[in-house]
Amino acid sequence: MNIKVLWMYHDLMDLYGDKGNIEVLKYRCNKRGIDCVVDTCGIGEEKDITQYDLFFLGGGADKEQNMIFGDLIKRKDSIKQAMDEHTAFLLICGGYQLFGKYYKDQDGNIIEGLGFFDYYTEASDRNHRCIGNIAIEATIDQDTFSVVGFENHGGQTKNVLSPFGKVLSGHGNMYQSEFEGFLNDTVLATYMHGPLLPKNPKVADKIIQRALRKRYGDITLEPLDDSLENKAHEIMYKRIVK
Ligand code: GLN
Repeated sequence: MNIKVLWMYHDLMDLYGDKGNIEVLKYRCNKRGIDCVVDTCGIGEEKDITQYDLFFLGGGADKEQNMIFGDLIKRKDSIKQAMDEHTAFLLICGGYQLFGKYYKDQDGNIIEGLGFFDYYTEASDRNHRCIGNIAIEATIDQDTFSVVGFENHGGQTKNVLSPFGKVLSGHGNMYQSEFEGFLNDTVLATYMHGPLLPKNPKVADKIIQRALRKRYGDITLEPLDDSLENKAHEIMYKRIVK
């Protein structure tokens, strides 16, 4: 059994160590004897997106988003086909923004998004940048749990019809907003860096299950010893949620 991961623009969209998410997926798969094959895809590289089980796109500053969006838009049809064929998606911050209608950056440039979802993002003024630790309560595929992370985005994402979770502390989709991220049955999009997965092993396993689902159906994962991960989660949760 294996999962095939396509890591998009790994060299550009890797803000605040989002590459750590890939390391966690590899670790948690290998511990279970699941082969985790990771391919990268840079600007101009040919990759058949539909052949992958998980599409991962990390965060990026406005400059990097401007650098990649022209290439990303060219892949719209194959990304849509992958979505229709139940590929799982993990999108972080800048990557999240580019799957919506558009991102208006700090300088007022409109970066065209893939437009798969109704949300859109507009950079705030400097006084309303969303920076700091964040904790939410999320329900992924019928299981509810807390998720902790770090956010740093000027973008205010509006019109999110199905958020990832409810903000317990921090900003979320907008400055001091009630909800964070976007979630549907295959896409998990979030502002949470940290990176996201090391302190949120339950989220990591949900992503692995979603990636496995495409070719193997619903798989129950053998539990791992997450005492260290859970300790890190609890320490951050207590620090964030007063
Ligand atoms: N450049 C985008 C913003 O400032 C995304 C930042 C990020 O990926 N952390 O909102």
